[in-house]
Amino acid sequence: MNREYVLASGNKGKLREIMAMLDPLGFVVRPQSDWQVPEAAETASTFIENSLIKARQATGHTGLPCIADDSGLVVPALNGEPGIYSARYAGSDANDEANNRKLLSELSGKQGAARDAYFFCAMVLVQSVDDPAPLLATGQWHGRILLTAQGDGGFGYDPLFGISGSMDDGSWQSAAELLPEEKSQVSHRGQALRELVRQLSVLSTL
Ligand code: IMP
Repeated sequence: MNREYVLASGNKGKLREIMAMLDPLGFVVRPQSDWQVPEAAETASTFIENSLIKARQATGHTGLPCIADDSGLVVPALNGEPGIYSARYAGSDANDEANNRKLLSELSGKQGAARDAYFFCAMVLVQSVDDPAPLLATGQWHGRILLTAQGDGGFGYDPLFGISGSMDDGSWQSAAELLPEEKSQVSHRGQALRELVRQLSVLSTL
């Protein structure tokens, strides 16, 4: 089984998480920045389609097989926002802090289940630009948006993402309070990546 892949992402938090999961399995994964692959224009309206756009772009530039992750936070009470715009919710150059501020402001006045949210991850693996059968796996991680940020681990919306029933005393723990390996056990990305590796291992036995 080929275990060398380009990772089609420039997001350091994602790269860290994906590499930490794949390294122990013997995969050699290098970020697309090693080949100066430009960020792909994410022009589609779903995570799944955008993950394919990113993967094809990185494979086209490098000639190597590629793994891509397109992910984000979905808040049903905000009609699915920030959704596919999660990285740029507060504007095209927005950082995590600005995105989190905007999320809190959009949810101000909403309580309880109106703050329910989930992370979604689409993870794909393409062998070439014209691969007719890309592998695709998705994952969802459900929680609730906290009133204030908690913890300093993770990245993105993690400090605001409360995990239900996480503490014995009924209080909420945020995703940014989990150790990296704890997050990967339950996260949207961990679920999707484990499923992708499973599909790949089935293929390699054929
Ligand atoms: P993408 O790079 O276009 O897929 O955008 C992903 C964006 O979704 C990130 O910039 C974060 O804002 C958000 N996101 C995705 N996964 C996570 C996560 O595991 N924790 C926190 N935020 C995440």
